[in-house]
Amino acid sequence: MAEDGKFTVSFEWLSGCSGCELAMVDLHERLFQVLEAISIVRLPILMDRKDYPAAKLGIVTGALRTEHDVAAAHRMRETCDALLAFGICAVYGGPQGSGYAHTIGEIEDAVFRKNPTTRTTFVPDQGIPRLLPELRPLDSEIQVDHYLPGCPPNPHFVAESLTAVVGGGVPEFGSHNVCFRCHRRMERSTVSSLRRLQDVELAGDVCFLSQGVLCMGSATLDRCLAPCPQHGAVCTGCAGPSELVILEPNRDIRTEIADRMSRMTKIPRDAIVREIERHSKTYYAYAMASPVFRQKPTFLLRRWIREGGA
Ligand code: SF4
Ligand code: SF4
Ligand code: SF4
Repeated sequence: MAEDGKFTVSFEWLSGCSGCELAMVDLHERLFQVLEAISIVRLPILMDRKDYPAAKLGIVTGALRTEHDVAAAHRMRETCDALLAFGICAVYGGPQGSGYAHTIGEIEDAVFRKNPTTRTTFVPDQGIPRLLPELRPLDSEIQVDHYLPGCPPNPHFVAESLTAVVGGGVPEFGSHNVCFRCHRRMERSTVSSLRRLQDVELAGDVCFLSQGVLCMGSATLDRCLAPCPQHGAVCTGCAGPSELVILEPNRDIRTEIADRMSRMTKIPRDAIVREIERHSKTYYAYAMASPVFRQKPTFLLRRWIREGGA
């Protein structure tokens, strides 16, 4: 506890985009309630503090991409009583997990040597942390006590998790998928081919899948209250895979969606599976780096990406 008796919280950001830190501000007026209960002892986005003070809770955002990330993760584990992996990058590797599909050399080519805006042979390698061979989620290196996926996590669940942990409890979540909170109606249709959101006029109250448009809600955990389908956008899976996909060895994102969509429409199941494989860097974007997927048929991800070129 801090001298003022408040619950101490220490933050660390690894390889991420700082969107998770900004998500804290999305708490709006609830932020004041949270700040009354906690004392922040370290927060890289606002404080120039290099050491790692002891804290009751450590909140880690971002994934492990560099040697510095690994060292920082260990320092957080050593100095914090409990650790919260905050955001899909920390939980499953997040969007930069798509680096899984490429070697370090290919990534350097894309950013430096063959990038039309830089086109330089100079690739910085002095005085900066070295890249790990692959990006990894936080719990591949250290023990994690609590998880809060989302890109970034939804303010409703941020407030709920912090309140639970600060009160000495464990955040509780349901095991529903995004469809559970979506107001769109699943119904049978005669649509016989896949369609793109931007190419067709769609009914606002009917499930995207029924209308031939891929939506990942049925294979995604509800950690967001389904804002995207409620506002006309498909779910892209940013809260990570559903419980079924995680726990069942033979279930997978593409088969979950294809089974459901082919039952509701006249689109052949194989065509849906092939489309998802062809664009697997999009459909597996948030969890590609997670070892959860290496145990599944998705170990073919690298091949799909190579062949799909998307
Ligand atoms: S989870 Fe999303 S918002 Fe948070 S650091 Fe990763 S990419 Fe950024
Ligand atoms: S698949 Fe998408 S549009 Fe359909 S019910 Fe689920 S979240 Fe809503
Ligand atoms: S609906 Fe899907 S994409 Fe939108 S916030 Fe929720 S999980 Fe993320």
